[in-house]
Formats: sequence, C-alpha cells, structure tokens
Amino acid sequence: MRRLLLIPVFLWLILQALPAQGQNNITNNKRWWKAGVAKTVITPQEYMWMAGYAARTSPADGKLHDLWAKALALEDAAGNRVVVITTDIIGFDRELSVSVCNQLEEKYGLERRNIILSSSHTHSGPVINRNLSLIYPPFDAVQQEQVEHNRTFVEDRIITVTGRALNSLAPARIASGVGYARFAVNRRENPWDEQSIYNPSLKGPSDHVVQVLKISDPLERPLAVLFGYSCHATTLDIMKWSGDYPGFAQIEIEKMYPGVTSMFFAGFGADQNPLPRRELALAEQYGKELAVAVSKVIGDPMMELSPSIQTVYHEIELELSPPPEPEMLEKSLAEGADWQKRWALLMKEKLASGEKFPETYPYYPVQTLQLGEQTLVVLGGEVVVDYAFALRKALGNDLMVMGYANDVMSYIPSERVLQEGGYEGESSMWVYGHHGPYAPGIENKIVREAVQQVQKLKQTGATAMKQKQ
Ligand SMILES: [Zn+2]
Repeated sequence: MRRLLLIPVFLWLILQALPAQGQNNITNNKRWWKAGVAKTVITPQEYMWMAGYAARTSPADGKLHDLWAKALALEDAAGNRVVVITTDIIGFDRELSVSVCNQLEEKYGLERRNIILSSSHTHSGPVINRNLSLIYPPFDAVQQEQVEHNRTFVEDRIITVTGRALNSLAPARIASGVGYARFAVNRRENPWDEQSIYNPSLKGPSDHVVQVLKISDPLERPLAVLFGYSCHATTLDIMKWSGDYPGFAQIEIEKMYPGVTSMFFAGFGADQNPLPRRELALAEQYGKELAVAVSKVIGDPMMELSPSIQTVYHEIELELSPPPEPEMLEKSLAEGADWQKRWALLMKEKLASGEKFPETYPYYPVQTLQLGEQTLVVLGGEVVVDYAFALRKALGNDLMVMGYANDVMSYIPSERVLQEGGYEGESSMWVYGHHGPYAPGIENKIVREAVQQVQKLKQTGATAMKQKQ
C-alpha cells in the first residue's frame, strides 16, 4: 500500500525536474517527433574477399574494428514513419536492396519511399552480393559460398535491427546543422605525391560540408547523430576489416557522447579521395577530424525541425551509350588490366551471341525527404561532387545530400565528368558490368527529377499547413 502511494509522488518529482517545455513534450506527444535507434555488428563471420579494389589477391586476415548496420526510425506527429539504415559496406546492388525493402514492407509495413538504405562505401569491408562484381578475380566455389552466406547474414541483421529501432520509438527532438572538414581532395585533378602536402593550390571541386542531424530526447540529451561527408572511404587498403575513416569517426563520436549511436552516410564524393592516405594513423586522423566537426555542429545552435515527414521515391531511366566497337574490345583484351580483360571478354561474348545490349539503366533511384524544415535528396550510385553544387543552386544551401544509397549500380558522372571521361566518366562502368558510359543529358535528368520531387513535397507540405490553420 505504501509502495503504491509512493509512485504518484515519484512521478510528480520527475515532472518537477523537467523544464516547462519538457513537460509539454511528454504529456503532448502529438507535437513531437518519435525516434528509435538500434545497431548491430555485421563484421563477416569468416575471412572472406574484401570489397572495392581490383588489386587485392587474398581474403581479409584480421580486424581493426567491427562493421555495423544501424537503423534510425523516425515518426512524425501524424504517425508517418521513415527509416534510415546506415551500413559499413561498399554498397547495396539493386537485387539486395529490393529484397531488403520487400521484407521491411512485409514485416513492418514500411513503404519503399520511407526506407533509405545507405552505405559508407568502405573499401575495408566484405564483397556484397554482386556489387562491383567484375572488379574481382573470379571466385572459386568456397569463396562464392562465403559471399552468398554473408549476403544473407547482412540482410537478416538489417531486418532485425530495423525492427529493434521501430520498437524503441519514443518522444524526441530533431535538429539539423552543417560543419566543415577539409580532408576530401578532388582525385581527378590532384595526382598525389609526397610533395603535394606542400602545395597549397589543390585543383578541382570538393564539397567539404559536414551534414548533421541530431536526434535527442525531449530533454535534449542526444540519442543519435546522423552525419554525412562527401569523400571515398579509401584511406586504407590493408587486409583487415574496418569502416575506414567513417568507421573511426563513428567510434570517436560514440566515445564523445556515451550512449549515443552515431551513423555515417556518404554524400556525393565519388571523385574525392581522403589524401594523403594508406596509413592507419591517417584513417584515424580523418575519423577524429570528422568527429570534431560533428561535435562543433552539435555544440552550436542548430535548426530545430517540426515533426512532419514527407517522402517521394521514383526510379528513373538513365540512357546508356551504344555498345563498344569490337576494335576497342580487342585493344582492352591486349593491353588492359585483368579487370578490363574480364569485361572485354564478357562484352565480346555478348556481341558474338547477338545479345541485345540495354539502352538504359531503368531503375535509377531518386528519393527526396522533407523532415520538417530540412530537405534531403538521396541518390543511388557513386555520385560526383558536381551534383551537390547543382542541387544546392536549385534548392538552397540548407539542402542535405546523400549518395551511395538504395542501389549502387555505377558511378554517376556530371555532364562535365562524362565529357572528360576517365574512370568516373567511363571506365568505372566496366567494373559494374555495364557495356559503356551513360549518354549525355544524365545530369539534367537527375537534377530535374530531384527538384520536381522537392517542389511536390513543398506543395504538399504547404497544403497540409493551410488545412491545419
Ligand atoms: Zn567508389
């Protein structure tokens, strides 16, 4: 009896301890976000082939730190939900992405447009399904079995961790802001040598913005930090599992804010490398640099977001160039690197068999989200930095951009990079198994789709606001 009496007293004491706004948050959930976050280890269960580089000749032989899949579930005041899943992997191909999303829909009722599957593009993780398949030497039966087993393992973990995030939804506040970190260097313009650190005039565009979403409880105690940077996770090429600089950044942030889950997403950094690189201390340095940039944003005033979610997801067709000429294939077979020879042989066989080459990539995912006042454009593929500038020009500097999401099927060159050619404009298409580069017009098509989606979101948002008034 005495114990029962103590409960209301205890509750009263808690409410007294909250600031006035905190009381409103808790007693009137309708006005607030709900957020839930969960994480799970996805380090491969055996030493298998590592993702990203053509030059590797053996499987992984150790681990610097674990790889993670993390899920952030958000619910707005009207009950709309979105889930952001970040992973320390090279990228989701379409098949894996569709499979994951179908299960998330079936199990948790999440629509495709309300799911973001983001990859950090670490080059120190495992091969994932068929992503980048032509870059690797042909696998033997055991290696192939490891790839398939790991795919199922990663997929299962993602489904489970998303369920845990959804089950932990609780009142929350969300704020956004931006910081700055300079270690991304335009890799097309700056071939790196030891003298480069003395050269202050790096060439070519880079996007040094650090994008941050802070998720806190009603008392502003941080629960999760979602942060993005536009640079390849290619500091390291050793044979040990790690998340590269994004992995170190996430560890560092979680050390700075005990209990917080930190989640990295890759921006539009396909033509950017962390330079100089290839030393463990540099991966740690860039991770710490990014973590400090994130903590500065969190320490400064941020833009508090109203609890509303709107999303659009479309897959659009991207035109491809005509098939390669036989002479060009013969040249690749005679002079190319091993991965070029594998591609040329495959294309030669396709030409000989009379197989029709596709005219488009028909599934290019363009997704946009309006989280309160914050707009986010999420693109598939390895997107070059020009898209960040083009989209910010059209939609404002407050825009957040995420690449390497939903389906990583190729590099996504801007018109400039396509015309210039090179790896990001042309030859990278081969390691992804495509017959050739995209056709001109790709940049306009993607930017137009994203801008139209955002305009639609804003119109819907404005109509909803009017109806409320
Ligand atoms: Zn890449």
